[in-house]
Amino acid sequence: MTQTVYLDSNATAPLRLEAEAAVLRALQAGGNPSSVHAKGRAARRTVEDARDHIRVLVNAPKDARVIFTSGGTEASALALIGCGREKVFAPRTEHPSVLNAREGLVTIRVDASGLIDPFELDEMFAGGGDDVVVSVMLANNETGVLQQVEGIARIAHRYDALVHTDAVQAAGKIDVDFQALGVDYLSLSAHKLGGPQGVGALIAVADAPLKALQPGGGQEGGLRGGTENVPGIAGFGAAAAAAKSGLDNDMRRIRLFRDQLEHTIATIAPDAQVIAAMADRLPNTSLIVMPGVASDTQVMAFDLAGICISAGSACKSGKTKTSGVLSAMGVRADAAKCAVRVSLGHQNSVSDIERFVSVWKDLYLKSGAKQSAA
Ligand code: PLP
Repeated sequence: MTQTVYLDSNATAPLRLEAEAAVLRALQAGGNPSSVHAKGRAARRTVEDARDHIRVLVNAPKDARVIFTSGGTEASALALIGCGREKVFAPRTEHPSVLNAREGLVTIRVDASGLIDPFELDEMFAGGGDDVVVSVMLANNETGVLQQVEGIARIAHRYDALVHTDAVQAAGKIDVDFQALGVDYLSLSAHKLGGPQGVGALIAVADAPLKALQPGGGQEGGLRGGTENVPGIAGFGAAAAAAKSGLDNDMRRIRLFRDQLEHTIATIAPDAQVIAAMADRLPNTSLIVMPGVASDTQVMAFDLAGICISAGSACKSGKTKTSGVLSAMGVRADAAKCAVRVSLGHQNSVSDIERFVSVWKDLYLKSGAKQSAA
């Protein structure tokens, strides 16, 4: 039987071996990090070691708070609700975890690449910014497009607004530097960088306002009650360390594969389109339109051929609704409905790309597409 080709790392990245080993070790070790005895102290050490790895991954300063959560969704909710600001400014291209975090969202417009116009953001602060938190993702999960978060943070801070970035898709794929970005809050999720699902973290500047959503027993510095998910946190830490040490090599290789894939498709089908092809993007992500073939049809055809991809973001798969990200970017509905997302990871090889392209070509030819493909 041929092996499954996994090209859906933005939905969830394959578990890294280092993370799997760390999860198992922590599960077997047991212990509650709040207990004072030896087992508790060992569990505490596991949690604090992981916290250090997360800090290193995103170059967070020593005094920044790293608060473990149940994932990226909870991390963003903690920042956006816990910061206590009245309004959230965010583009419609944000992940639903931000768009649906709370009331009071004011939309920032984006251009055809999904990017915010800094001048327009500046104008939005005409009424002041000390009641505002701006939330702008570092990398978009569907298109891979990278926002200019550093510049956005500079503008927002001029008006005393707070700034949150969802770096869930960026971490482990590009160098993420919390200090250089100049944001107040940054969200992470373990399963997007080769850790286990159900664990994430919020990084917050030491003196940024923050109130717990669930104070409980006062864990995580009183900012997230509940006994820590020690195995998950251990796996997150191990994945972060592995992602950091292999980042440059992995991503150079993955970018080559992705560019080769896009180039080959352009040669096969001049009418195919890569969304936001000219924008600064994650090195692993490609959102490809095969004209006239619905996304779900493509996903099913690839699945039958043993290749895992997704129609836009995983959260929307199975629904026929067009992507809010693409409509915000002004992509025509007929193209948006025919887009599939390919997202590579450290596990992929040249042969995975060749298999994808071969199935893509067959499907394109069968769809009665342009003769130029023959
Ligand atoms: N933010 C982005 C950009 C994502 O892609 C995702 C997951 O798809 C999330 C947040 C949510 O993360 P989690 O699944 O850990 O809650």
